[in-house]
Amino acid sequence: MKIAIDGPAGAGKSTIARLVAKRMHAVYVDTGAMYRAMGLAVLRMGIRPEDGEAVGRAAEETSVSIVYRDGCQHVLLNGEDVTEHLRGEAVGNAASAISVYPAVRTRLVALQRELAAGQDVVMDGRDIGTVVLPDAEVKVFLTASARTRAVRRYLQERQAEGAEPETESDEARNEIARIEKDIEERDRRDTSRAESPLRKASDAVLIDSSEMTVGDVTEKILVLAGKAAAL
Ligand code: C5P
Repeated sequence: MKIAIDGPAGAGKSTIARLVAKRMHAVYVDTGAMYRAMGLAVLRMGIRPEDGEAVGRAAEETSVSIVYRDGCQHVLLNGEDVTEHLRGEAVGNAASAISVYPAVRTRLVALQRELAAGQDVVMDGRDIGTVVLPDAEVKVFLTASARTRAVRRYLQERQAEGAEPETESDEARNEIARIEKDIEERDRRDTSRAESPLRKASDAVLIDSSEMTVGDVTEKILVLAGKAAAL
């Protein structure tokens, strides 16, 4: 069984995909982490992500691979485990910028297909249902309003810092507005690029999680998987 979950930044794909994989005893593959590793490589080399030729050359010289430890995905960049260095905003923006280049996508799509071959996977990203696994039995396009996604991301960041989870102070409002702008910019780039733009596959089920809990979305996908397995 292959389950493809695509959607914009901050829609909750990784949380949901991880839970669905656990319930199905399948492997969770986070493809965003691979683009982030390539983004990190480019930043470390001092290359501007806008310099397509230099990024293309760097992608050819860079090895990104995946290992699983205790069921968790770890990303190796030229053999170094960089998993802990991938979540920051600078790396996310670099990932989004370098993911427009075919040289980067060709390498990472090949790695993703290799990981999906011969095992049950739940894979999340932007082009899984459309390009990477067009034959996936279940395809979901998971989205939420930009505002909802910004609030969720803000609360996640606060939680990670051990701070009070509030959204009403001026500081919180300003930060949420800034994150929302960043999310809209990332959406614009991901949906308008020529190479594998973010879009819903024609046979994907659209789930808008703005008013749904994590549990609701997970159950909905498990029901889809159950129906697909019964076919
Ligand atoms: O999902 P995440 O935010 O970790 O992805 C980082 C960036 O990598 C995205 O903004 C997107 O541009 C790119 N990406 C992609 N295709 C995927 C997964 C991620 O282009 N399958």
